[in-house]
Amino acid sequence: MLLFTPGPTPVPQNVRNAMSDETMHHRTPEFEAIFEKTREHLFKIFNTDEVVMLSSSGTGAMEAAVINLCHNTLLNVNSGKFGERFGKIALANGLKNVEIKNEWDTAVSVNEVIEAIKNNSDIDAIAVQISESAGGLRHPVEEIAKAVKEMNPNIMVIADGITAIGVEKIDVTNIDAILAGSQKAFMLPPGLSMMGLSLKALDKIGKGKGYYFNLATEIKSQRKNTTAWTAATTLIIGLLEIFESIEKSGGLEKLYKDTALRAEAVQASLEAIGLYVYPTTPAKSMTTIADIDASAIRKILKNEFSVNVAGGQDHLEGKIFRINQMGLIPIYEMAWVVNSIELVLSKLGRRAYDGSANRVFNQIIFEK
Ligand SMILES: *Cc1c(COP(=O)(O)O)cnc(C)c1O
Repeated sequence: MLLFTPGPTPVPQNVRNAMSDETMHHRTPEFEAIFEKTREHLFKIFNTDEVVMLSSSGTGAMEAAVINLCHNTLLNVNSGKFGERFGKIALANGLKNVEIKNEWDTAVSVNEVIEAIKNNSDIDAIAVQISESAGGLRHPVEEIAKAVKEMNPNIMVIADGITAIGVEKIDVTNIDAILAGSQKAFMLPPGLSMMGLSLKALDKIGKGKGYYFNLATEIKSQRKNTTAWTAATTLIIGLLEIFESIEKSGGLEKLYKDTALRAEAVQASLEAIGLYVYPTTPAKSMTTIADIDASAIRKILKNEFSVNVAGGQDHLEGKIFRINQMGLIPIYEMAWVVNSIELVLSKLGRRAYDGSANRVFNQIIFEK
């Protein structure tokens, strides 16, 4: 089965092998050496002043960022399930919350954010997805962060990069916390989250908030290449392995270039067979197609072509499907996916098969 969901993504064989060794104790020089190397890679990918790894799925990093960086009112951007989650986290932790809500195909504008901040002087942090995975949407986070900092540099900007880190280069100049998760572009099993932090964020964290997710406690340990609590040793060993795989296959710039080209080729090939791209500003992490036959398409893809793509949640259930583009994906697998989708459309009697999807896909991949 080809796993083409935008998280979890497939775990490469060499990473599975690396993680299958005997369990290592986390308080040993051997593991600390692995931890140190992994941290160095994280500094490179985040481009931030500090980095931290947490034993949790991505939502843990969201909660850690919110409780440590917001002390009053969180402004969250809700254009989908993950954006909505930030608001729920704030309320669950006794913080106040203001939300900007849009349909799941619509990115927030810089103006909406600025207006919301003007209207509420209690807002001390804003949280937004770079890539909102619910609809495959790209928010203009870098522009928003710049505008927020021009207004008030003390407002913390929390960017959920869980489907953006490892997908494209992010300008973190005005971002205070940027989050990543193991099971998306890092091609690892779920259970590890990562965060990059600015100096201003470190200032605000001070002694930290919470217990398990107290970032001050965690950073203090991690600067010494150890963790406050038992480290997710197996996943960190896998993370180092994937970083080394990325390096061997041409480095981060090559990964970003390949991902961008893949995103362009998939989108164009599916549009060439009459399919409709759902978000008005698509993220490079995935292609989201809006289609009345979404459920049938997913079912045939899985049962007859061994391709597993994701559906939609809530009001988009049965109305969209989402195809992953994150990670080190062999071209032949992606080509198989777009060709299978074209075959499914012909099986559904929607369109006679003529190989258009693969022709367009190959033209973009091999001519650029
Ligand atoms: C997957 C994801 C998360 C985190 O979800 P978990 O299930 O806790 O790993 C957060 N934000 C975005 C944009 C995601 O895609």
